Order: sequence, then structure tokens, then C-alpha cells
Amino acid sequence: MKLVVDKNICIGCGMCIDICPEVFQYDDQDKSEVIKEKVESELEDSAGEACEACPVDAIEISEE
Ligand code: SF4
Repeated sequence: MKLVVDKNICIGCGMCIDICPEVFQYDDQDKSEVIKEKVESELEDSAGEACEACPVDAIEISEE
């Protein structure tokens, strides 16, 4: 699974980072960025939960 955060949409609420800090972290502009090139299967559930929790739908799954 590969994820992308659209930083034009992200409002930096931190929800995805709270849910799945293994995959998301704040960048230097306090927006979320994906720190894993590829999300391992054991993290897919929490990464998917983070996608669904994003209030502005800024996280896209770019590859299954
Ligand atoms: S949950 Fe969405 S809006 Fe909030 S920090 Fe993550 S990507 Fe940005």
C-alpha cells in the first residue's frame, strides 16, 4: 500500500499522526507527510483508519 497526503488540502489537524505515527508525521509546515515509501501489511489497518479519519479527505491511497 502506498499513501500520499495532498498538502494543499491537509489542515494539519494531526489526526492521522495520532492514529498511525509509524506512517505519518508533521513536516516543517505542520502538515502531514508520509514517511514510509511503502506501508507494510501489518500497518495497513491503522493507515487505512487514518485515511478514513481525515476530516478533509487529504490522504489518498496511490497503490494497493
Ligand atoms: S488527518 Fe488529514 S488534515 Fe489532519 S493532519 Fe492528517 S492529512 Fe492533514
